[in-house]
Amino acid sequence: MTEIGIIAVGGYNEMGKNMTGIRIDNDIIVLDMGLQLDRVQIHEDVEIDKMHSMDLIRLGAIPDDTVMNEVGGKVKAIVCTHGHLDHIGAIPKLAHRYKAPIIATPYTSELVKHEISDERKFDVTNQVIPLKIGGRYNLTQDIQIEFIRIQHSIVDSAFAAIHTPEGVILYASDFKLDRTPTIGAPPDFARLKNLGKEGVKAMITESTNSGLSGKTPSEQIAKDLVRDVLLGTEETDSGVLITTFSSHVSRINAIIQAAEEMNRIPVLLGRSMERYLTIAQKMGYIKFPQNLEVHGSRNAVEKALKRIALEGKKKFLPITTGHQGEPDAILTRIANGETQYRIESGDKVIFSANAIPNPMTLANRYALETKLKMAGARVYDNVHVSGHASKEDHWELLRMVNPEQVIPSHGNMTMHASYVELAEDAGYVFGDTVHIMRNGEEMVI
Ligand SMILES: [Zn+2]
Repeated sequence: MTEIGIIAVGGYNEMGKNMTGIRIDNDIIVLDMGLQLDRVQIHEDVEIDKMHSMDLIRLGAIPDDTVMNEVGGKVKAIVCTHGHLDHIGAIPKLAHRYKAPIIATPYTSELVKHEISDERKFDVTNQVIPLKIGGRYNLTQDIQIEFIRIQHSIVDSAFAAIHTPEGVILYASDFKLDRTPTIGAPPDFARLKNLGKEGVKAMITESTNSGLSGKTPSEQIAKDLVRDVLLGTEETDSGVLITTFSSHVSRINAIIQAAEEMNRIPVLLGRSMERYLTIAQKMGYIKFPQNLEVHGSRNAVEKALKRIALEGKKKFLPITTGHQGEPDAILTRIANGETQYRIESGDKVIFSANAIPNPMTLANRYALETKLKMAGARVYDNVHVSGHASKEDHWELLRMVNPEQVIPSHGNMTMHASYVELAEDAGYVFGDTVHIMRNGEEMVI
């Protein structure tokens, strides 16, 4: 009889710094090693690359993986299912402690390699193995890792099905059930239903938006929203700035396409924009129009903004970082009048992003919007749909996969409680077949 343990390392008490261990007797598979974004104001100019792991653990910025010393067994693989920083951002600080390869989807693998090459404190030499969606990796004679196609707010996202002698453990975080994605194919429903029929021992899934009623709209809807704001106006000569998640390749693609129709030059601004989009373009997820500009370094950004101001704002569509009001991001610097691009009455600033609901971010975002409005900007807020499943999506996944046990992750207690109630609707029993775990616990199933 094989013993299976679920180890909650990070992301069970909060949204962020995700890390889960699955122990199959003495073999452990780690899923995700994430960074808590609001604990360190991470954006292009903050340097956590020189900080020590233990300091970051004390800050609450990365998972406290010292729990791994207490559970029996050895880590055999680190698996990353998508490239968001709350899933891969702690790899440079923690991965070197384990003699294990990092297995990730191809786009995620490239991002992981960049994270590792930025690291200045630790020498991370773990092998990075790209595994295509639909592919399987034989970890041991008894354990296989399979990636199943899903949709989320970053390309090349997957669920990880861990095949063990006791059945499948499904790691289902993060996802949305998008049937009309704008890049890539819809989730592999056939495979998920099959897994459900074969029998799933346990599912670990995100609880983030499980309290939001209904279903999360498709990215196609977000594309329409963006186009409606950018193209549906009589004021076609005004300055327009748009900001969104630099990792959201589909959204940025929609913006770039709209720029063409507006007869404006799309200009990607910021280091993270440069990173995510250049990799996506090289890997064939997105095509850049001939006139597109990318400016990553601060110096290049300043120069580009100066040129835009000189040549005429109406010829360009700058796509910037800074939608959360990060104090040193480009949009904040523009709002502060620190660049040559000055906001004038009637200029449009479009937030194709939600404000992440934590007090610090909300305060930053409020300050940013107020400054923009004081300078005369017309602000378009929340031109966005989420990348996370809502309540009815969770209901569908749960019924499709039909796991024996279910554990919500990627959320705080309120989010987990919403998930538990939903699972109870589907016939699960709290404490028996649906469980809430806290960081630092192992549960043997
Ligand atoms: Zn994510």
